[in-house]
Amino acid sequence: MIEEIRSILIKIGEDPARDGLLNTPLRVSQSLQFLLNKALFDVAYDEMVIVRDIELFSLCEHHLLPFFGKCHVGYIPDGRVIGLSKIPRLVDMYARRLQVQERLTTQIAETIDHKIHPRGVAVVIEAQHLCMIMRGVEKQNSVAVTSSMLGVFKDNQNTRNEFLNLVHHQSK
Ligand SMILES: [Zn+2]
Repeated sequence: MIEEIRSILIKIGEDPARDGLLNTPLRVSQSLQFLLNKALFDVAYDEMVIVRDIELFSLCEHHLLPFFGKCHVGYIPDGRVIGLSKIPRLVDMYARRLQVQERLTTQIAETIDHKIHPRGVAVVIEAQHLCMIMRGVEKQNSVAVTSSMLGVFKDNQNTRNEFLNLVHHQSK
């Protein structure tokens, strides 16, 4: 695939040997593979995986105004993992459409659950909504927090607490 992408660059008048484009064919090929869902791996790892502080930008579907903040994702694999870089992209994929924060949270958790059938998934979103800030509904820096807990994160309080501690104690 890398050769094909290089020849596309030539056809659109680019020089694939120049610095900025040198690794572009490889990057494009990798991102296409991501889009084609090749970013799942079989591994023996079975400890909690956490990706925290994922920046999030979305649009509130009630007011067509931005809400933005951070998303924290955790899961405990059961034989399969997701490429770590794929999790922020998954967040982006669902954020970049008209949303409500609660549904966005649930969609991220359910997609991970559906794709790799882990022992559990946890998603927490902390966001500020311009529609609230502008209308003075709440204090200027109030943050809406939503969470979706599936599997062991729902059933086991220790697991849930471990996740919440790791997410919050290292967060600034
Ligand atoms: Zn709103």
